[in-house]
Amino acid sequence: MTYKNFTIETDADGIALVTWDMPEKSMNVFTVEVMDEIERIIDQTVSDDGVKGVVFTSGKSTFSGGADLTMIKGMFETIASERASDPEGAMQKIFEAVGRMTWLWRKIETNGKPWVSAINGTCMGGAFELSLACHGRVASNAKSVKIALPEVKVGIFPGAGGTQRVARLANAQDALQMMTTGSSLTAARAKAMNLVHQVVEPGELINAAKQMIKDGLKPVAPWDEKGFKVPGGGIWTPAAAQLWPAASAILRRETAGNYPAALAILKSVYEGLQVPFETGLKIEQRYFTQILQTTEAFSMIRSLFVSMQELGKGARRPAGVAKSEFKKIGVVGAGFMGASIGYVTAAAGIPVVLNDRDMEAAGKGKAVCEGLVAGAVGKGKMSKDDGDKLLALITPSADYATLADADLVIEAVFEDRDVKKAVIEKVEAVLPEGAIFASNTSTLPITGLAENSKRPVDFIGIHFFSPVEKMMLTEVILGKETGDKALAVALDYVAAIRKTPIVVNDTRGFFVNRCVFRYINEAYDMLAEGVPPVMIENAAKFAGMPVGPLSLNDEVAVDLSQKIMKASIADLGEASVKPEHMALINKMVDDLDRRGRKNGKGFYDYPAKPAKKHIWPGLKDLYPQQKPDDVDVKTLQDRFLATIALEAARTVEEGIVTDPREADVGSILGFGFAPYTGGALSYIDGMGVKAFVDLCEKLAASYGDHFQPTPLLKDMAAKGDTFYGRFDPYGTAAKAA
Ligand code: NAD
Repeated sequence: MTYKNFTIETDADGIALVTWDMPEKSMNVFTVEVMDEIERIIDQTVSDDGVKGVVFTSGKSTFSGGADLTMIKGMFETIASERASDPEGAMQKIFEAVGRMTWLWRKIETNGKPWVSAINGTCMGGAFELSLACHGRVASNAKSVKIALPEVKVGIFPGAGGTQRVARLANAQDALQMMTTGSSLTAARAKAMNLVHQVVEPGELINAAKQMIKDGLKPVAPWDEKGFKVPGGGIWTPAAAQLWPAASAILRRETAGNYPAALAILKSVYEGLQVPFETGLKIEQRYFTQILQTTEAFSMIRSLFVSMQELGKGARRPAGVAKSEFKKIGVVGAGFMGASIGYVTAAAGIPVVLNDRDMEAAGKGKAVCEGLVAGAVGKGKMSKDDGDKLLALITPSADYATLADADLVIEAVFEDRDVKKAVIEKVEAVLPEGAIFASNTSTLPITGLAENSKRPVDFIGIHFFSPVEKMMLTEVILGKETGDKALAVALDYVAAIRKTPIVVNDTRGFFVNRCVFRYINEAYDMLAEGVPPVMIENAAKFAGMPVGPLSLNDEVAVDLSQKIMKASIADLGEASVKPEHMALINKMVDDLDRRGRKNGKGFYDYPAKPAKKHIWPGLKDLYPQQKPDDVDVKTLQDRFLATIALEAARTVEEGIVTDPREADVGSILGFGFAPYTGGALSYIDGMGVKAFVDLCEKLAASYGDHFQPTPLLKDMAAKGDTFYGRFDPYGTAAKAA
C-alpha cells in the first residue's frame, strides 16, 4: 500500500517504521488527508501478521507543528453557514469533526500492537497528542526538540486527548501549567514530567524506539490497565483540595477571565480525572466543541495563526520583483536601536556594517552586539561557535565608503530632521543605483524625509520596536513616492530576520504609535479625573493589556512623550494636544524630573532590587482622588480598548492601514492589544460594529469627543458591515463580481 504523506519500511524484526514526510511542505501538519492515511496505516499494520509493532517518526527536521489550523477555519465556516438554519445539526457536525482526531488517536492506543513515537524535532499540539497515544515515546536530546501543547495561545486547547493523557501521566500542577500557558518543554523536562520514556542522542532515536518494542513493550496504555491510579491520587485527595482552588485563582489572576479556552482546560482535567478515560475524552470533546464556537477562538486563530502566517509569507509583497539576496546591509547610527538592528541582521546570516560618526561610537554598537551574544550563549540559546560567526558578520565603521556595495541601508541616527538629512545625502553619495534606503524614524513622516533624497522611489520606512531582538513586529512605511522595489526589498529583509511586517501608509506616528498614544492619553484623562492610579493600571490588565499605560509610558520615557507632544503642537497647532495632558507631562518632567524607568522615577518608583517597582505614591496627590468604590472598573476597561480600536478604525478610514489583518496583527505584536480579541479591529467586528458605535457614543457622552464614532463606523453600523467584510483582504467580493 502506498501513501502520499508517509513511507513504511518493515524490518526483519517485524517493526514497521512509519515516516511522516509531507511532499511540498516544510513542516508536517495534520490535514484531513493525513488523518485518513494514518487510519489506513493503523488498519494495514493491524491486519499484517508480519508487523509486530510500529515506530512513528518524521522525515523532516521537525516532527510536526500539529494541526493545520486552516482545517479549523473550515469548521468556522460550517458554524457560520449552518448555525442560523440548523443550530443543533451544526453543533453535532462540529462535535463529530472535533472528535475525529480524538478517536483516531484512541484507535492507535487500542490497536493491539505496540506503537512508539520517535520525536526527532519540535513536536507540537496534535502531534504530541498522537505521541501521547503511543505506548512508548522516545525523544532526541537535540536542542531543536521542543515539546508543547500550545493551543491555548490561539484561543483553543488540546482537544485530541491532551488534557486527559497529560493529566494521567504528569502531576496535576505541572500538567495544568503546561497546558494553560502553552509553554515549550525540552526533551529532558518532558521526561522529568513523565511525558516521554527515554531521551537519547539524535542518531540513536530509531534504534531506541525499536528496542522498546523488542523489549516487549505492552500495547496497553496505563489508564487501560486494571487498578490504574492518577498521579497524586486524583481529585479527591488532601493535596488536590489544596491545588484546585489555587489553580482557579492563579488562572483568574493570569487571564482575568478573558480566555475561555484556558478555563476549559481546567474543567476538562478536573472533570475528566473523576471518570473513566473514554468518558474523559468525551468531556474534552464537548468542551472543545463549545470553545470552537467562541468569538475568542475565531478571532485568535484568524489573527494569531492565519493572518500572521500570511503576512510573514509576504501577503503584501508586490509581485514581479525578484526576491532579494542580501550580500551586505548597512546600518547608520550604531546607538540603542542601530546596534540591535545590526545584531538581528547578522543573526539572519547577513553581513552588516555598523556605521557611526566615529570608530568609538561604532565600536560601542558592536560591543552591544557582543553583549547580546554573550547573553544568548550564557543562557544556552546559542552555541559559542554560532555566536562567534554572528559577530564576525558585523563590521564597525566610520567610513561611508563601506556602504558602496550595500543592498539596503537602514538609518537609525538621532531623531532630528537635519541630522537625518545630512545622513541621507552622505549615504546616497556612495550607495549603488537600485539599492534601498530605509529610515527607522519613529515620528518623522517618511514622505518629508524622502524630500532629502535624490531617489524617493527607493526610500522607505522600516520602523523597529524596542527591544529589537525580542519584538516580533516591524512597521514598513510607504512614503508618497516609495516604489514597489523598495517595498519588496523591505519585506524580504523583514522576512530574512524572521519578523512579521505590517505595511502602512505615511502618517504621524504611523499605525502602532498612534494607537499606543491613545492608550496612554486615556490614562492621563483618568489621572486627571482622580481615578486612583493603581486602578488605572489594573483595569488595563483586566482588559487584557500586558502592560499598564503608566508603566508603558515609563518604559517609553516620559520626556519622550513631552518631546512628541511639543512637536505635535509646533507642527499641528495647540489644539493637537490636550492642555491637561501637556500640563501633567511638563510637571512630571520639568518640575519633578520624573522621566521614567531610565532615571529611576516616573509614574512608578524603581527601588533597588530585589524590591519591586511600584506606583509613585506622590502621583495621587497631583489630583483630588475619587473613592475606589465610585469608579466602575468595567468602564475603565472599555475606555482603554475602545480608544485604541477607534484609532485603528480611523487609520483605516484615512487609508493608512488598508488591510484589517495588519491592524489586528500590528496591534497585538506591537503593543499587546488584548490578544483574546484577535486585535483592534477584530475587537470591533467581534462585538459587532453597531454595538461598538453604541459603546463609543455612550463613552463620548461622559468622557469626551475623542470617543465620537467616525462616519465610516456609523455607515458600517447602518449597513451591518464588518471590517473583514468591507475591507476584505482576500478580495473575495471583488473576485465574485
Ligand atoms: P541613539 O541616540 O541611541 O542612537 C543614535 C546613534 O546615531 C548614536 O550612536 C549617534 O552617535 C549616531 N549618529 C548621530 N548622528 C550621526 C551621523 N551623522 N552619522 C552616523 N551616526 C550618527 O538613538 P536611538 O534610540 O537608537 O534612535 C535612533 C532612531 O531610531 C531615531 O530615529 C528614533 O526615533 C528611532 N527609534 C527609536 C526607538 C526607541 O525605542 N528608542 C524605537 C523605534 C525607532
